[in-house]
Amino acid sequence: MTEEIIMLGTGSAFPRKSYNSCFIIRTDRLMWLTDGGGGNGIFNALASAGINPAELRHLFVTHSHTDHILGIIWIIRRIVNLTLEGAYSGRLNVYANSEAADALTEICRLTFLKSYFDTMMSITDFHIVAHGDRLAVEDVEVEFIDCRSENVLQTGYIMHLPSGHTFATLGDEALNPRNADLVAGTDYLHCGAFCLYADRERFRPYEKHHFTVRDVAREAEKAAVKTMILSHSEDVTERKQENYTAEAAAEFSGRIIIPADGERIDLIAGSGIF
Ligand SMILES: [Zn+2]
Repeated sequence: MTEEIIMLGTGSAFPRKSYNSCFIIRTDRLMWLTDGGGGNGIFNALASAGINPAELRHLFVTHSHTDHILGIIWIIRRIVNLTLEGAYSGRLNVYANSEAADALTEICRLTFLKSYFDTMMSITDFHIVAHGDRLAVEDVEVEFIDCRSENVLQTGYIMHLPSGHTFATLGDEALNPRNADLVAGTDYLHCGAFCLYADRERFRPYEKHHFTVRDVAREAEKAAVKTMILSHSEDVTERKQENYTAEAAAEFSGRIIIPADGERIDLIAGSGIF
């Protein structure tokens, strides 16, 4: 049985060494992409992970910001090409909240050849999702969550995996206390942590509506999450994994994973590298 997360990117909007935060959840029957990062660097990230875009049938977008949505546009563009070449058949499923779905459709309309846009519309099933919606997709059940973002409509989800484990993501947001009951006790919580609290003056997360490792760890502790996976971070801190883990561990008693680009985390056995 396979249940893993493949971190294609772990960086924030302006990474220096990493790709923007995005990942794939893979089970025996599902390959579920969450966000695409900010450009066609998604193709390198996929190639490094050994994934062919033709394998992608389920694309989820958390929100409409550039560093999350533009990579999805490139993937759709590639899937349109593959369709026209006869190398992709069947439906493409795109899951997003209403704002992100509108942005995605509009960007495709404005930037694709008309024939590509028409092909995209004819092969794609758009699933507009809102807080509390539940969908059965292949061998998982996905329950969508409004992240209660202050600056954009952002949607996360709790995925109920075939093994019985639960994986929740809040996109690039921290856990809002209003959602604590929803994610309470989840096996894995993925969310954004922009930088160390100790470095808040240097990276200024709060003015960008982001939070620090310490902030996120406190909320995850209150929600009794078992494992926390943090990404959407600055990538210039020396010994980032060690330093982030130490700051999180002062607040959070569960397991802490600070992944690097390309890292695979086995969701059945725990992290592949710890
Ligand atoms: Zn972002």
